[in-house]
Amino acid sequence: MNLTVFGIGYVGLVQAAVLAEVGHDVTCVDVDAEKVERLNQGIIPIYEPGLDGLVRENHAAGRIRFTTDAAAAVKHGRILMSAVGTPPGEDGSADLQYVLAVAEVIGREMEAPKIIVSKSTVPVGTCDRIKSKIAGILKERGREDLAFDVVSNPEFLKEGSAVADCMKPDRIIIGTGSEKTEKVMRELYAPFNRNHDRIIMMDVRSAEFTKYAANCMLATKISFMNEMSNLAERLDADIEAVRRGIGSDPRIGYDFIYPGLGYGGSCFPKDVRALIKTAEGVGFEPRVLKAVEERNDEQKSVLFEKINRYFNGDLKGRTFALWGLAFKPNTDDMREAPSRVLMEALWQAGALVQAFDPEAMQECQNIYGQRDDLLLCGTKEAALRGADALLIATEWKIFRAPSFEQMREALKAPLIFDGRNLYDPEVMARHGLEYHSIGRKAVA
Ligand code: NAD
Repeated sequence: MNLTVFGIGYVGLVQAAVLAEVGHDVTCVDVDAEKVERLNQGIIPIYEPGLDGLVRENHAAGRIRFTTDAAAAVKHGRILMSAVGTPPGEDGSADLQYVLAVAEVIGREMEAPKIIVSKSTVPVGTCDRIKSKIAGILKERGREDLAFDVVSNPEFLKEGSAVADCMKPDRIIIGTGSEKTEKVMRELYAPFNRNHDRIIMMDVRSAEFTKYAANCMLATKISFMNEMSNLAERLDADIEAVRRGIGSDPRIGYDFIYPGLGYGGSCFPKDVRALIKTAEGVGFEPRVLKAVEERNDEQKSVLFEKINRYFNGDLKGRTFALWGLAFKPNTDDMREAPSRVLMEALWQAGALVQAFDPEAMQECQNIYGQRDDLLLCGTKEAALRGADALLIATEWKIFRAPSFEQMREALKAPLIFDGRNLYDPEVMARHGLEYHSIGRKAVA
């Protein structure tokens, strides 16, 4: 099937690569000429396990191509998939300028019937807006004869396992009122739907809402658990024991109930805020969502507060080793990462940060540039050298079993502040390391 993907970001590039891999013929179009140029040279702009090889192989096989030529791209696809960004606007609501720009290009350039698939996370009613925008342009062009449909098909991939998620999706949500469109969408996704039926059909508005409800539910689990961890500290209980205790109830489950430094990334923070705005827009007070956001904002400062308290507010001139910059493991994405709140608070207090992350070093450099109070280290061991303490902000696998002996020798003092509860406090005490974590008693 001929397919066009607008927006070669995390979602667009991964979906395009996966759809090409099963045999579809995919044209990717982006307004970022540099990104397109680099992709044509085989340079993949993001880190995502398995993506590199997938894009290169399908590019070499001629099943995927990258262009800035929107007119040719509109012409190519029977299905036009829009996966452009929907960043937060100034008031927190989703900024739809890129989504509507794509609709405008489609309206101007289409010369044959099209199915327009909205992949981006967009507020309820956006597909209707896309529809009227295109219809308006076709009317101006005197081409009301051109049939088109707008489908909501939100994306549920997780950064860090995006390729695997798209290859084996838990569910494929398709929102459309048209049987004809449903058939084409089923054909598009048939290669991913062989084991059992993963497709859930619904109306357009419910599909748009499903994506927000899913992300807000996940954010709620995280904020709830973080609230419990703060309480556990005050009640002298161990949140890790509590986590295992509640996770054993299948109605709760073990997934997504890890206490930590709060959620970050490009989705949860903006989607919770956007749904709050949507709710307010229809005169409804979203009490739970507001609390979820507030708890998360506070949680990002929890580790800094522990450190500041420990050093009695005297952080000026101190050096801290920081393990983990990405907002979660297996990605180089630092958007709204808790590590940033931590680093910025440390800098504000006059401290120096020696940081290491397996994938996000370049991204960190892009964000903060050259500064005297940030040293990006080549290895996790190098980051430890001469530091007053080790701080952990991301639960990368390679941080899980370090040499504690080496750690003790490299650090100026045997002191750890762990925002991800990677280690067993008893083991830390045995190694002579003072260990502060989340929702558990500190050990020395
Ligand atoms: P991104 O910022 O990584 O990529 C968006 C791309 O769109 C950029 O390359 C940009 O240059 C391009 N673009 C902007 N305007 C364009 C236009 N008019 N024509 C063509 N290209 C254009 O964004 P992302 O993280 O891939 O997210 C895309 C959407 O998917 C968002 O709505 C997001 O909420 C949603 N989503 C993201 C994830 C995720 O994990 N990143 C998961 C599920 C859903």
